[in-house]
Amino acid sequence: MANSEEIKSEEKKSLSFVEQLVEKDLEEGKNAKRIQTRFPPEPNGYLHIGHAKAICMDFGVAEKYNGVCNLRFDDTNPSKEDTEYVDSILNDIQWLGFKWGNIYYASDYFQKLWDFAVWMIENGKAYIDEQTSEQIAEQKGTPTQAGVESPYRNRPVEESLELFNKMNTPEAVEGSMVLRAKLDMANPNMHFRDPIMYRIIQTPHHRTGTKWHAYPMYDFAHGQSDYFEGVTHSICTLEFVPHRPLYDKFIDELKVYEGEGDNIHDFRPRQIEFNRLNLTYTVMSKRKLHALVDEHLVDGWDDPRMPTLCGMRRRGYSPESVRKFIDSIGYTKFDALNDMALLEAAVREDLNAKATRVSAVLNPVKLVITNYPEDMTEEMEAINNPENEADGKHYITFSRNLWIEREDFMEDAPKKFFRMTPGKEVRLKNAYIVKCTGCTKDEEGNIIEIQAEYDPTSKSGMEGANRKVKGTLHWVSVDHCKKAEVREYDRLFKIENPSAEECDFRDLINEDSLKIRTNCYVEDFAAEKKAGEYLQFQRIGYFMADKNSTADHLVFNKTVGLKDTWAKMADKK
Ligand code: ATP
Ligand code: MG
Repeated sequence: MANSEEIKSEEKKSLSFVEQLVEKDLEEGKNAKRIQTRFPPEPNGYLHIGHAKAICMDFGVAEKYNGVCNLRFDDTNPSKEDTEYVDSILNDIQWLGFKWGNIYYASDYFQKLWDFAVWMIENGKAYIDEQTSEQIAEQKGTPTQAGVESPYRNRPVEESLELFNKMNTPEAVEGSMVLRAKLDMANPNMHFRDPIMYRIIQTPHHRTGTKWHAYPMYDFAHGQSDYFEGVTHSICTLEFVPHRPLYDKFIDELKVYEGEGDNIHDFRPRQIEFNRLNLTYTVMSKRKLHALVDEHLVDGWDDPRMPTLCGMRRRGYSPESVRKFIDSIGYTKFDALNDMALLEAAVREDLNAKATRVSAVLNPVKLVITNYPEDMTEEMEAINNPENEADGKHYITFSRNLWIEREDFMEDAPKKFFRMTPGKEVRLKNAYIVKCTGCTKDEEGNIIEIQAEYDPTSKSGMEGANRKVKGTLHWVSVDHCKKAEVREYDRLFKIENPSAEECDFRDLINEDSLKIRTNCYVEDFAAEKKAGEYLQFQRIGYFMADKNSTADHLVFNKTVGLKDTWAKMADKK
């Protein structure tokens, strides 16, 4: 048996590298053994599954180490932000099942940040640059070549102070000047080459209105916000690795600034970076997601093909399946492309345990049980979920006239066809064994009706039920079902990694990613199901009622098929 030391080291191995760093900090007694994280979305779009990865990490670490994770809206760019996004973000985090401590906004710190920036100017650590953004970019240099200092770099402090105040007036012209930190134009880290701290934006802010006209840049807001709030571990994605020295630098300066007052904090936040989540056959860039929505290439942010959390929710993904998927891919220091098939497998596994089994026929053809009395009906017992007895059962009405799937019948079937064909027996799910006797065709040869005879002794539980029949078909009763529209989704993009292509990403959209079937039938019990209730259409896949489904116009979204048809298609190639 493993001793406790071995168990401990086994546990260590299964910790993510972030958790290992956090545990080390705890062991060393850093920050008075306090753990505080934050999830810092910019409210400029809806959350996608990539954000979910960050959320699982930020909230997960706090939960695991008895800390707290706050929510901070990084709202420093009013031209792109809106309360619509704030609301959706709150909703999506709750859907995933996480609870935040406090809700903060970077805009709550605008005054504090402003005062700190003034202090930096007064101490010769920042200056107003009146060059154009193009000029500033030209002087930046390259990683191997030093940049050129701005002609405004050594202007008098008084001048910079006056212009900084001017930046924050309604008259200030966007792009006419910026505040830059006076750091090192030759530093190999490009982020140190006099980074921009403030810029002019004249769009009203969704919270502060027209109070501010000059806004801090990400690098001059993020670390300081972490510090103001008492964040101990500021976990983010790998693209922020080169920002980290600047993150630390501004906190150093902030400590000096605060040291001149009397509230020195005895802690400092630590930035830790992990790899982004990238998924095959989709895009995650907010710019592209915005374009898809704004150009009506999809049906809004919650189009079930979108990688957004609201899209996945509408499609019928469970939050548990999203979290399980994220858990399974893990956290590393290397960017990778994650396979959509893994996400779908996680969805299938979770829904198998959750979904209520119902009957629906998507491509109907009529089946008449010719020896079943015309005016008779029977209520057949249907188990809601064989994976979970507690889910109970419901009843499905059986009658003489049924709908079955067109694909489940073949007039001249090959030997291995175990569905319906003349002369052979099949079982109708939850009902009887029937033997096909023939079919009727229209003038063009299309099959319009199939006939069969049932064996009255073959109902589940009866003696005749025990004989072996190879196929089991699902069905609904013509007079006891509801018509429904069913939307089937495929990958939104034709190729695995659309972001890696040079061409316009719009050209890579899969035109066949939405298939609408308007002539489907669902049993009455299924017709009552609402958005949010997980369903399995037996033998087909997982489905959920759409948010816009009504009793008069039922609409179901296909969440995922029972099997990975994409893998099968790839095998055939
Ligand atoms: P942008 O900054 O371009 O608007 P963003 O996707 O970085 O978009 P934010 O709102 O800034 O959006 O992201 C909030 C948090 O989510 C950040 O900490 C970011 O690192 C994290 N995040 C964003 N995309 C991913 C992803 N694909 N995988 C993991 N984490 C992500
Ligand atoms: Mg960002």
